This record gives sequence, C-alpha cells and structure tokens, in this order.
Amino acid sequence: MIDEISAVVGVRRRCRQVRVGDVLLGGGAPIVVQSMTNTDTATLEPTLIQVLDLARAGSELVRITVNDVEAARVVPQLRAELDRQGCFVPLVGDFHFNGHKLLSEFPECAKALSKYRINPGNVGQGSRRDEQFSQLIELARQYDKPIRIGVNWGSLDPQVMARFMDDNAQLEAPLPVTHVMRQALVASALESAEQAVSLGLSPDRIILSCKVSGVQDLIAVYRDLAGRCDYPLHLGLTEAGLGSKGIVASTAALAVLLQEGIGDTIRISLTPEPGGDRCREVQVAQEILQTQGLRAFTPQVTACPGCGRTTSTYFQMLAQRIQDYLRHQMPVWKGRYPGVERLHVAVMGCVVNGPGESKLADIGISLPGSGERPVAPVFVDGKKTVTLKGEHIAEEFQALVENYVQQRYGVREVK
Ligand code: SF4
Repeated sequence: MIDEISAVVGVRRRCRQVRVGDVLLGGGAPIVVQSMTNTDTATLEPTLIQVLDLARAGSELVRITVNDVEAARVVPQLRAELDRQGCFVPLVGDFHFNGHKLLSEFPECAKALSKYRINPGNVGQGSRRDEQFSQLIELARQYDKPIRIGVNWGSLDPQVMARFMDDNAQLEAPLPVTHVMRQALVASALESAEQAVSLGLSPDRIILSCKVSGVQDLIAVYRDLAGRCDYPLHLGLTEAGLGSKGIVASTAALAVLLQEGIGDTIRISLTPEPGGDRCREVQVAQEILQTQGLRAFTPQVTACPGCGRTTSTYFQMLAQRIQDYLRHQMPVWKGRYPGVERLHVAVMGCVVNGPGESKLADIGISLPGSGERPVAPVFVDGKKTVTLKGEHIAEEFQALVENYVQQRYGVREVK
C-alpha cells in the first residue's frame, strides 16, 4: 500500500548523504524523525528519562541543549547511561553563543555527541563571529562530527540582514521586509556552509536548516534553499505553537515541501500543554510521514467521523481502543512481525460506508448504526468472514486483529 502511494508522491530531491552516528540523512535514505528534549541537560535523570521516552516513541535522533559547563559535563554520562540501557539513539548537541568554548573545554562531551547544531546568528558578535565559527568547524573536523547549520528567523545574523536591507533599499521598487528576510535567511545558511567548507569541513558533514514560524515563509524559504544547494535539509516549522494549532501549522507547511521531495529529516516544534507528553512531537512527525505515504511506523486505523445514523458512541470507543492497542503492541510487534507497521484496520459506524471501507482495509469491522440489525460483520482481506454480536464485540475484534497479525506477519519457521 505504502509503496503504491509512494509512486505518486513527488520525487525526492537529490542531495548528499550525511551520516549521524548510525543514522543516514539524505541521499535517498528514509526521512528521519527527530525531536528535542526540554529538560535541563545539567540534571541527568530527567534528561535520561526523556531521551529514553523519545527514542522509544520513535525519535531517531534526539537533540539536547548544551548551554553551560554543567550541561557539557553531563553529556558523556548521559551517553554512557543510554548505552548501558541499550538505547543507542544519536544525541545532537544544540549550541548557542559558547559552543566553541564548551566543545574545546569538554572533549568527552564533544566525542559523546553525534552531531553539533550551530546557529550562525548566535556564534558570536562582530569580529569574534568568524573566529568562533572557525573554532567550531575545527572542532567538528577534529572529532569527525557532522554539523547542522541551523538558521532561525528569530536569531538571524544581524550583519547578513543589514546587508540585504541595504541592498534592498537601493532597488527602484524595494521588496517587502519579509521577502528580504527570507533571502537573508537562505543566504546566511549558504554562506555559512561555504565558509565551513573553505575551512576544511567536508560538504558530506553538513546539514542545513532555515526555520521560520510562518507556513508560507517556510515553504518559500525551503524551496529557495533546496534549489540552491545539495546539502540534506532539516525541516521544521519553528515555534509551531500549542495543540492543534501547532500540529495543523506544521502539517500544512511540511506536507507541501515533503510532497515536492524537499526535506531529509523533520522535527515538529510543538509547545507541550501543561503536563503534556513531549513524545507527542514524535508521534505527529511519524503521522505526517505515514499519512503522506513516505514511511510506515505503526498500523493505521481508518474510522468514520460518526453521524446521526449512529447515535451510540460505541464505535468511537472501539476505534480508540483499537488504535491504542495497536500503538501499545508496536514495541513488541516491531521485532516479532516484520511489516506489521503497514497494517490497515478499519472501524466504521454503519452500513453506509462500513462494509466498503472495511473491505479496503486488511481487517475491518462495520458496526451497527441506530436502527440496523445489532450485528457487526468483519472483513478480512476484502472478504466477510464472521459477524460479531452481543456484549463483547470489542474484545472479539481485538482478538481477530491479533490473530490476523500473527498469521500474516509472523515469521514461519523453515523445517
Ligand atoms: S459510515 Fe455510517 S455512521 Fe459513519 S459517518 Fe458514514 S453514514 Fe455515518
């Protein structure tokens, strides 16, 4: 199913391939999901727990803040403890202002990280900028680490912006400031990459990003960037926001770019709601990629929205139960049932679309709407197999799904 869909998704942009730990970015590799912790890196335990959670949720790279000596000191301990617990997710260090000093003074931190993220706007002011940027590049060379040159709208290099504003002012018809800013963002990323290469860093060790918080700006900036370089691109709408707004804005922007083949790794910058789960950003990233047919992570449940034909909320509960069950099973199923992430389950509310949608799924159930006979036919590989009725439809359907997974994805022993 996914492979068929992939055929109609835009061709991926050709670019170099960069290795981050054991993870490949670009050059035809699957689009990588990444995330970032929001704990104080200097306190080991909460950061360790969150990295483990993010990795278990499916984050393939995890970025951590390295903002002071206490944080830099903890990074090697964090790496060692993750390894000890069998979690080998590559760690990316996020550096601003003092990265050159921290990486110089804490070689074990420099070694423990798999990638350094640097922001050209926050490397240093005035004449110190070039010196500190050179130091960072030299450290990346010394420890053989890739870097992400991550430009951000909120911390754009003021010198680059001033240059573009001056040039714009000379034009007969100056462009709006937002257009100038877009140009300056892209220029900052490309010029910094050029500078890194001139300092001896291999182009195969560079990833670029140009993050903004507006959907149209992000699309315009990445289209421009993608057309002007062959570095892998890290995609994300910065400061996407809370809840559904953050999810919708990120999806709207990323879907357009991914459809055009732009983007080699993605991060969804959601603001967690108070007490919310940081892993939500990983789940959303996976869902964006899976619903576009670009990757498969977890079985998909097709469920109708319900309407006046089904006054009961029973089918909503069943859809939720099945979805939760599938997610819950995935950590075990992933190793035991290769390919199960492509399973397609349908839970439908009534006879109008229920049988049709269920036949299109691998396994589906069509519940009785109000006024229908109190029976629920189950369809397996397009054929009606059994009809469930009574009080235990949910449990019985779940057992049928489990059985289907074992039969279809279980590895058969060769005698
Ligand atoms: S399948 Fe039936 S219950 Fe579900 S939305 Fe369609 S008509 Fe309504």
